[in-house]
Amino acid sequence: MKAHLLTIGDELLIGQTTNTNAAWLGDALSRIGVHVERSVTIGDDARAITDELDRAYQDARLVITTGGLGPTHDDVTKSIVSQYFGAPLETDDELLARVKQYYERRGRDMPPEVADLATVPRGFDMLQNDVGTAVGLWHADTSTGDERLIAVLPGVPPEMKSIYENGVEPRLLARADLQDLAHRTLLTTGVPESSLQRKIGDLSDWLGEDLKLAYLPSTNGVRLRLTAYARDRAVAEDRIDALEGELRSRIGKYIFGTGKDTLEGVVGELLRKRNLTVATAESATGGLIGHRLTAEPGSSDYFLGGIVAYANSVKTGVLGVEPSALRDHGAVSLPVAEQMAAGAAERLDASIGISTSGIAGPGGGSDEKPVGTVCIGFAKRVEGGATDVDSVRLQLTNDRSLNKELFATSALEMIRRKLLW
Ligand code: ATP
Repeated sequence: MKAHLLTIGDELLIGQTTNTNAAWLGDALSRIGVHVERSVTIGDDARAITDELDRAYQDARLVITTGGLGPTHDDVTKSIVSQYFGAPLETDDELLARVKQYYERRGRDMPPEVADLATVPRGFDMLQNDVGTAVGLWHADTSTGDERLIAVLPGVPPEMKSIYENGVEPRLLARADLQDLAHRTLLTTGVPESSLQRKIGDLSDWLGEDLKLAYLPSTNGVRLRLTAYARDRAVAEDRIDALEGELRSRIGKYIFGTGKDTLEGVVGELLRKRNLTVATAESATGGLIGHRLTAEPGSSDYFLGGIVAYANSVKTGVLGVEPSALRDHGAVSLPVAEQMAAGAAERLDASIGISTSGIAGPGGGSDEKPVGTVCIGFAKRVEGGATDVDSVRLQLTNDRSLNKELFATSALEMIRRKLLW
């Protein structure tokens, strides 16, 4: 089933409100196998809304609008829908009583214009709103042979979601021509999209109309979204399982999790399972690795603590970094990162120490160590009191806050790789 989305509101066009409704509906519809083919954002302009409604209604089996349903003068969607379909607005007495009651319960008089909320275009079904006053509208038109569907929803996100979930989705699921679909997301980090694509290689024997793979790059890595379509959910799931298996055989070691997994959660679980503890020595990340590790419930099982060693005096005085290492190699160097990690592990009595020393920017870079350079140190204490160390140097971006986030992600990924690879 093809759908067009029309999200309505001046505030969306001028960037005052982020259009979360379009993203949320896109996700919710694709989960039930509705193919959102077009999504348009329009201001509160009657002409523009009518034009887009006309185009959408001609082209797609399902049209969903959000916004402009309220009682204020700029809320024009309902009257446009009424005009477009030649369906006069009629007051629904039951709905009017409910709106009145809504105001009474809050001890307020109902403003006269609010009576408009209780009108419904003739022939449209009302979709109950459990969290607000504006109801949603639904119309299934079979007059042209092919069934055409339209849902008109409020703009307020919780109201829109509630009406969609309780009113729209069940009606869509009742349509027999809905293909079922299965989705899965595999999470990777530390490999750029182009290089991931190269490592995966040719999948043309696998992919097609019924099975798709999308690369979704974001700050913290590339997500791989697998989608399978079939008449039957179990068949779609089987197709996804097979594709996931193939991807894992090609790039399995880069996949740190699936769905809503977080890297810190996955690393935490690995530490917990192996009865290991971790301590941090953070310069460039200023405590962000500790923050991310402790965002996971139960992290006290494996996270002992950290030292934010921003100044060289803290690197030497608290972590025991040798002044000669700082002098000879500079603070952003592999030897210093290794000594910081070892210092954290030893002084906090942890099995693993992880450190960052880098140049987040915008200043402080040089030809030899440009902005975005980070050295990550890893130390693991082994039997006999010795400590194994390792380190990597990476070159990331020019943006300070992005760098901090990426340095922390790289450090967490380093723990994961050291434990698994
Ligand atoms: P109301 O009954 O509140 O008037 P409405 O259907 O008229 O509901 P709008 O007036 O268009 O909705 O928007 C109400 C609120 O919902 C505003 O704060 C707006 O920023 C927010 N909103 C509207 N559309 C969207 C959207 N597409 N994504 C996220 N928020 C939205």
